[in-house]
Amino acid sequence: MTEQQGGYRIHDWGGDLQWEEFDRRRPGEGEVLVRVEACSIGLTVLNCIAGNLSDDPALLPRVPGHEYVGIVTEVGVGVSPAMVGRRIVAYFYLACGTCSSCLAGDDARCANLAGWVGVHRDGGYAPWAVLPAHNAVVVPDDLDPIAATVVPDAVATPVHVCMSRARIKPGDRVVVLGAGGGVGIHMVQVARLLGGRVAGLDVQDPKLALIEEHDALAVRSDDLSGLDSALWREGPPTVVIDLVGSAETLQWGAASVGMAGRLVILTTFRDRALTVDPRQMVFREFSIIGSRYAGRAEVSLAAELVATGRVKPVIGAVVEAEGVPAVHDALRAGQLLGRGALRWEDT
Ligand SMILES: [Zn+2]
Repeated sequence: MTEQQGGYRIHDWGGDLQWEEFDRRRPGEGEVLVRVEACSIGLTVLNCIAGNLSDDPALLPRVPGHEYVGIVTEVGVGVSPAMVGRRIVAYFYLACGTCSSCLAGDDARCANLAGWVGVHRDGGYAPWAVLPAHNAVVVPDDLDPIAATVVPDAVATPVHVCMSRARIKPGDRVVVLGAGGGVGIHMVQVARLLGGRVAGLDVQDPKLALIEEHDALAVRSDDLSGLDSALWREGPPTVVIDLVGSAETLQWGAASVGMAGRLVILTTFRDRALTVDPRQMVFREFSIIGSRYAGRAEVSLAAELVATGRVKPVIGAVVEAEGVPAVHDALRAGQLLGRGALRWEDT
């Protein structure tokens, strides 16, 4: 008889999640079975549930939750039995592992991308999940599973942005737009770690206090049009990282980034555009850089940064399954500090 599990599933994109009992899958060839210990709750999960990554009805029902951590309990054909018992985090992109980008370690640029965990494959809003072995990134066994929930996206994405894309180095002046959010507060920490001086922009007092706690200048950004970019005596920012993606933030970033600066864009919406004056780009010799998730090696590095305490996970709410809707509400209201985490009982 097939074993059952209780978890949350999406039955229509953009609709409410349903709690229900359904079959537990067994791992097939090249797959691992994971006993999920915890899964992060953040805006990306809400975007997936809303159908922003795919709204194909053929993918339903689907367990959301891309950022999860757990223990491998069983492996399918072709997967090393040494994986059993290891703690892993889920790599978000369903990369092929064999194209030239994947082989170069740029898994997020995979030429044969098959979709995303939590959209094209079940995620961590249920206590058991099956994952391609390629997507199971082994982390230190003593890494706390709640702390590890921020690793695969909320810390790995900043590692990619700050190290591979913006190439932040000591002396850089870095502005993070939306710095009090789940990715933002870890972006602040990674930018600081690389020697950047950081200003975190956000709109709510608790988030501004959080930014200050992480050794960054906290700046209110309710009215961006009136905000002077000269936040430091030495001059305007050399790096602007936009996690908001509104017309206002994009425009402010392009207008504010200084000589030889880098404007990094990673939050986008279908209907938002940025108008750039090419003369300004030339005069200030600035670059506009897109950033797309992170490679698997960057996820491993993110795990190491958290395990060694160099990046401190900011998790504003840890709940059992019944607490998930309330955390979603807090997220939508902009009231969650950092990420949320869904903890599964020992199953
Ligand atoms: Zn590939």
